[in-house]
Amino acid sequence: MIDLKKLQVWFITGTQDLYGEETLKQVAIHAEEVAKSLNNNSKISVSVVYKPIVKNTDEIFETLQDANTDENCIGVVTWMHTFSPAKMWIRGLNVLQKPLLHLHTQFNRDIPWNTIDMDFMNLNQSAHGDREFGFMVTRMRKDRKVVVGHWEDEEVASQIDTWCRAAAGWHDWQGAKFARFGDNMRYVAVTDGDKVEAEMKFGFSVNTYGIGDLVAIINAVDEDAVQNLLKEYEETYEMADDLKAGGARHSSVYDAAKIELGLRKFLEDGNFKGFSDTFEDLHGMIQLPGIAAQRLMADGYGFAGEGDWKTAALVRACKVMGSGLAGGNAFMEDYTYHFDPANSMVLGSHMLEVDASLAKGKASLEVHPLGIGGKADPARLVFNVAGGDALNASLIDMGNRFRLLVNEVKAVEAEHDLPNLPVARVLWKPLPDMKTGCAAWIYAGGAHHTAYSQNLTTEHLSDFANIAGIEYINIGAETKINQFRNELHWNEVFYK
Ligand code: MN
Repeated sequence: MIDLKKLQVWFITGTQDLYGEETLKQVAIHAEEVAKSLNNNSKISVSVVYKPIVKNTDEIFETLQDANTDENCIGVVTWMHTFSPAKMWIRGLNVLQKPLLHLHTQFNRDIPWNTIDMDFMNLNQSAHGDREFGFMVTRMRKDRKVVVGHWEDEEVASQIDTWCRAAAGWHDWQGAKFARFGDNMRYVAVTDGDKVEAEMKFGFSVNTYGIGDLVAIINAVDEDAVQNLLKEYEETYEMADDLKAGGARHSSVYDAAKIELGLRKFLEDGNFKGFSDTFEDLHGMIQLPGIAAQRLMADGYGFAGEGDWKTAALVRACKVMGSGLAGGNAFMEDYTYHFDPANSMVLGSHMLEVDASLAKGKASLEVHPLGIGGKADPARLVFNVAGGDALNASLIDMGNRFRLLVNEVKAVEAEHDLPNLPVARVLWKPLPDMKTGCAAWIYAGGAHHTAYSQNLTTEHLSDFANIAGIEYINIGAETKINQFRNELHWNEVFYK
């Protein structure tokens, strides 16, 4: 979907003029070796680009300014190989707008016990150089990620990659456009929010488009393209005979294919990264987009139903962050509960629009009545979803701030066939347990809509929230309800 390798993080090594040419030459050689090693590490999904070492206020300022304006640079990694007096960093850090990762490493992994002398000590002093730099960043109240360990340590590489992925999701949001067909579902609170504040905070815009403009494009799609897409449906999915060409209910699938082609054209022509729609505003549309939304999500578009632009944008960001990893990122809704005390779980789904990238095995294309919206029976893909570690994330507008809420879950395989439930579905058990997980979610004001991820961790999401400068709340194995409620109370003061 997105080639992360074309994105760059800049590796910037701080030092100072004090050490003399010989030492500085050594610093530069080492820094380049570290940058190259990170760039060649298969764990790191973006390119790591070595930048010449910086020795004074002007060099620091110019390098960080360049990072701001370079369109492929998604963030900077800093490391103080030697001491780099941090007042030199003030001017640069003041203007830095790209995400910052502070790599607290050292060129030598081990102390050379038998040969260590003062020359070695002078060259390898990140143990105190990085503390000086860290003080300045903290003193300036700048958010950043600190990663500690030797640069050849695989855990270090994977922590760096997690942050790079978060930075890539953030980069993708800058200037992104999300289309909203129709407004918010009437009277619904949590899906609504401040789109002006969101654009100021997150960098993406959300604007509305008349459903009639979309319908005009759907009605004008090329007949050959429709026939090709219908062929693709038949080859890709299980379908009942009466839905196939010539079958009694084929027209429902035909209409759905036209909707997919029209929607795709609208999004491509307008360079959108995602969209939302609502079943309350479908004037001129024959059916609610089901399979269209499902397949567009699988192709990387962000989506959420009922005008929920925040979740649509979050789903898109998760797709970018998870790019190239096994598993999917999808629009999800907590739908109904299984309250068996020995086996409590949540059934997640949506009326229609569950991301086809979650499908385990061959999906079946089915046409059933929707029950709401008063439109023709929509076509949708029905499938089960694999078990395993996953998480649900919700972006909430708290009025004075945005909150990113994450609940770690264990997805479980369906033990039953659910023959009368014609939608895709997922089953999961919230951590730390059903009662605590659900209570904490509700205390935190989490939405019923989420981005469901099979391949992102809480570290990706918390790095993302830190880059965005918003509140991050996690519900996981360690969550205790009283402590959790206190955290919410304390955060009210912090964000006042
Ligand atoms: Mn919904």
